Amino acid sequence: CGIVGYIGQHDVKEILLRGLEKLEYRGYDSAGIAMLNEEGIHLFKEKGRIADLRAVVDPNTSATLGIGHTRWATHGAPSRINAHPHQSASGRFTLVHNGVIENYAILQQEYLQDVALKSDTDTEIIVQLVEKFVNDGLSVEEAFRKTLTLLKGSYAIAMIDAENQEVIYVAKNKSPLLVGIGNGFNVVASDAMAMLQVTNQFVELMDKEMVVVTRESMTIKNLNGDIIERAPFTAELDA
Ligand code: GLU
Repeated sequence: CGIVGYIGQHDVKEILLRGLEKLEYRGYDSAGIAMLNEEGIHLFKEKGRIADLRAVVDPNTSATLGIGHTRWATHGAPSRINAHPHQSASGRFTLVHNGVIENYAILQQEYLQDVALKSDTDTEIIVQLVEKFVNDGLSVEEAFRKTLTLLKGSYAIAMIDAENQEVIYVAKNKSPLLVGIGNGFNVVASDAMAMLQVTNQFVELMDKEMVVVTRESMTIKNLNGDIIERAPFTAELDA
């Protein structure tokens, strides 16, 4: 139901948790965050309130890159296992998703017969497809784009790669998603309100666009891989 993400210089834990708290009014049944540092991915998720998630997040974990999610379950019961972020079979890729993947069962049949799924969600198919296509030899960006071209339905997506601390991969179709611009950092949010704590400059995404977000840049592309230029707007809401 809500997505946040941050890549920058500061510790991401509070930025993500505060962002998720700003999205609480939309309603949700579970929540989670994933942070990436030199030790690897640190994943925390819980059924219930953001306060319940806070209680399980290790206060000693610090990272400058991460993604977070509040879930409104559509496929798979509300539970800790079905809460986002979801991970690929090897654990290399970690992903959050808002929306519904209508053809998830067909994609599973066609591409993922050999993969033991970890959850009952439509979402997990996305992250498993990315890993499958990377294993087949594509670059991460190509695998992400190929996966997007196969999806039918609605999505706002943010994904991180345990082998690359410099990037958040983002995509949107029929679910809201914004990229927020900072000085030495960039953010991702399904609603500007979640990230007004750190910036008021946002770039809107259109359907079937993806973005490669780094600390210093954000590059929007369509699903053919063509670069799209778009100016930011100033969000004038009260934080
Ligand atoms: N369809 C996904 C799920 O049930 C995402 C739901 C959402 O938008 O929160 O896990």
